Amino acid sequence: NKQVVLRDYIHGFPKESDMYITESSICLKVPQGSNGVVVKNLYLSCDPYMQLLMKITQGHGAPFTPGSVITGYGVAKVVDSGHPNLKTGDFVWGTTGWEEYSLIKNPESLFKIENTDVPLSYYTGILGMPGLTAYAGFYDICAPKQGEYVFISAASGAVGQLVGQFAKLMGCYVVGSAGSKQKVDMLKNKFRFDEAFNYKEEQDLDAALKRCFPEGIDVYFDNVGGKMLDAVLLNMRNHGRIAVCGAVSQYNVEQPEGVTNLMCLFYKRIRMEGFAVFDYFPQYSKFLDTVLPHIRDGKIVYVEDVANGLESAPSALLRLFSGRNVGKQLVAIAHE
Ligand code: NDP
Repeated sequence: NKQVVLRDYIHGFPKESDMYITESSICLKVPQGSNGVVVKNLYLSCDPYMQLLMKITQGHGAPFTPGSVITGYGVAKVVDSGHPNLKTGDFVWGTTGWEEYSLIKNPESLFKIENTDVPLSYYTGILGMPGLTAYAGFYDICAPKQGEYVFISAASGAVGQLVGQFAKLMGCYVVGSAGSKQKVDMLKNKFRFDEAFNYKEEQDLDAALKRCFPEGIDVYFDNVGGKMLDAVLLNMRNHGRIAVCGAVSQYNVEQPEGVTNLMCLFYKRIRMEGFAVFDYFPQYSKFLDTVLPHIRDGKIVYVEDVANGLESAPSALLRLFSGRNVGKQLVAIAHE
């Protein structure tokens, strides 16, 4: 059983050499009396939070254990089951190992995949954890209204691309920022954002936002934190909402950047709220009922960036932190 293992806790940016590939044996039968399942992993999801678990930090959940297999979200096929609700051949998504086969002792955390008319890989992204993040953060935290001005950072990524399309479906004016010309073109032409800009080419983020939002921003879906958040605060409208989804620009820095414009919160009566997708897992089927029809009708499109083979998983994960991923980064490791 080939596995990706964390070598040791990291400091600063993760490197490929912080992970290594090893082989171990695994029994493909569930132990007698266990209600666990053995799964064959098909697709592994690369997610920004994973690097936080490579560090000894507080407040981000239990970190990975050096010398142990890396865990993350994935799509898998059940090869043996001791659980009454799952049988051999079922497809599932949820937390699994970065390895060919995994024994999952608590299958209650897995979601059974009932709709297989869409690609199974979608359950690492648009129909999985990042999709639910976009849904919860936009509809619940941002409380959007038709015609409002919406800004999204890291907009071409797994979460951002979906938030922008939800906002367009609601009749909002939508602008996204991303880190390359290719991504900016994708935002405008593929995801039909009204406007987009490459934040790496802007000398002055405040000026870029004023250019895109002469009347200000009602809703900011924040994926990056840092300087962008500071500039957005200056451009928010009264009673605006900010969903703090993530702060990917700050995950690797020794000294997090201070946000200096927080006074705007009370001047402009802004509501700024963080959220964790786990709290929304009970709403997963409601989310599917909303999103699946839009995918089937072509009203929502989706871009994935697929690396091939378990060996490519470490480098695929690192792509998130240099912005080399174009769309949702995942790793295909086996055929069904
Ligand atoms: P993406 O697919 O958007 O990939 C990460 C992207 O972040 C990169 O492609 C890059 O895009 C951008 N990025 C990387 N480094 C920086 C930097 N220093 N400054 C600005 N942008 C940077 O990831 P996801 O869609 O999966 O995640 C988006 C955000 O949502 C993350 O902050 C993540 O932690 C958060 N999240 C939060 C959850 C919650 O429960 N609250 C759940 C899931 C995700 P670019 O080229 O545009 O710079």
